[in-house]
Amino acid sequence: HAPATFRALLENSAFHGGKEFVVYEDERLTYAEHFRLAATLAHRLADSLGVRKGDRVAIAMRNYPEWIVAFSATLAIGAVAVPLNAWWTRRELEYGLSDSGATLLIADGERAAKLAGIDIPMIVTRSSGSPGADWHEVLGEISPDVVLPPADIRPEDPATIFYTSGTTGHPKGALGSHRNLAQAPMTVAYAMTRGVALAGRDPGESLKQRRITLLTVPLFHATGCFAVLLTTMFSGNGLILMYKWNPEAALRLIEREKITVLSGVPTNAWQLLSHPSLDSYDISTLSGVSYGGAPAPPKLLERLTELLPGRTPSNGYGMTETTALAIYNSGRSYLARPGSVGLPLPVVDVRICEPTGAELPRGQVGELCLRGPIVIMGYWNRPDATAETIVGGWLHTGDLARVDDEGFVYIVDRAKDMVIRGGENVYCAEVEAALFEHPAIDDAAVIGIPDDELGEQVGAIVKLRSPATQEELQAFLKESLAPFKIPVRIWFHESDLPRNPGGKILKTRLRQQVLGT
Ligand code: ATP
Ligand code: MG
Repeated sequence: HAPATFRALLENSAFHGGKEFVVYEDERLTYAEHFRLAATLAHRLADSLGVRKGDRVAIAMRNYPEWIVAFSATLAIGAVAVPLNAWWTRRELEYGLSDSGATLLIADGERAAKLAGIDIPMIVTRSSGSPGADWHEVLGEISPDVVLPPADIRPEDPATIFYTSGTTGHPKGALGSHRNLAQAPMTVAYAMTRGVALAGRDPGESLKQRRITLLTVPLFHATGCFAVLLTTMFSGNGLILMYKWNPEAALRLIEREKITVLSGVPTNAWQLLSHPSLDSYDISTLSGVSYGGAPAPPKLLERLTELLPGRTPSNGYGMTETTALAIYNSGRSYLARPGSVGLPLPVVDVRICEPTGAELPRGQVGELCLRGPIVIMGYWNRPDATAETIVGGWLHTGDLARVDDEGFVYIVDRAKDMVIRGGENVYCAEVEAALFEHPAIDDAAVIGIPDDELGEQVGAIVKLRSPATQEELQAFLKESLAPFKIPVRIWFHESDLPRNPGGKILKTRLRQQVLGT
């Protein structure tokens, strides 16, 4: 009897016993230790702190092991975990707390200090002298044979509120069910097996090997929590955490911890490959590089196969609203189609639609719509947004895509990013991918420039790795793109392009910087 709940997943994880689960710097937790901490905290939440089923418990932390313990304990008693973005300002954190109606906050010292004086009970870790109850004092003694407190949790009960990345507007709270959370790691495990098989290796053999994943993205976003943490936990593998992404630290960790998979956003892989110390570390254990969450230019795959030959590359498409991974491309299948995010996972149905919702014939570009048990229940507190986004079970992703004859999905652009130049659609992602082909480009973002005559013109903001002029780049693009897609203006950005913690370029901010609008 294994109901589709996170609680079942957690209880099951205890059977991995003495295997190492989480490593952060010099701190190491086995599955048994994690379970005991989570079960103990679950008792404190339920008994001393009065947390009831359905109550919201906010978590505001960097990627510390306590994040995982707090998450597990909250869900185990049927309360709803609300992970808040650790990069948020006080104002934004306050928004998350009031929007979710959280009655308890579990925070690290930095977040607690940011929120000094706020009127909400707090448990605080990694801090000396900040307000709130101390994490270790709250936990108290940890009994070696502690079990979870009783709770009646159904698959359809709400489990999490994850805020979307806020790339296109204000972050929305995505309400995930226990079924969503139980389904996600199973679909990812399936995709990984298929990825291994597609890479030409024996899945049976490969799956026997211990997978040690370096998590380069935050746990408070869907990819980190659902695609990486839950899958690791489900399969009894190891997870290495970092306080903050840094390519040199990543190389050091791969060597030290014998990491087998790098998992994050395309920028992480790009920066690792561009790092001057790439050859100074022994990273021979690394067998896979997976990324998703933002467009991956084909140039990235080319560099990956050139600089790290023999590794299995994977590109996954997903959203907060699909409990992370929904479409996946890996190994030979990805090498053969560098522009595709792959095939939908077996539990996911795909449809390409017109703005009216009518289905388009195969091959045409339209809005990507998805259906399946990983689609969230809706947006918290936003019945209007829910009704607009999930129609008759179909999630409208806001992404433009096409599907080829074999069923492979190609993400063309975000509908909101597309530039319409004199009635002609220009997909930013296509122009960005073409720019990345130029050796001088380190990063690129394409935007629309308002234009009286054409409505919009194409503009680009780039960060260079070696000198190049606007004219040179335009001439280079003319070889691969139609004239109307060539940026009429290219701005050169000295520092890194602004990105959110999920690795997505903040185009709204860039637009403001260069256009003042
Ligand atoms: P918001 O909805 O608040 O504007 P967001 O859409 O960036 O923010 P997420 O749910 O984190 O929030 O990201 C999902 C989006 O990321 C998708 O809709 C898609 O645009 C993009 N994306 C995810 N994976 C890929 C991928 N492999 N290739 C291209 N784009 C991707
Ligand atoms: Mg979105």
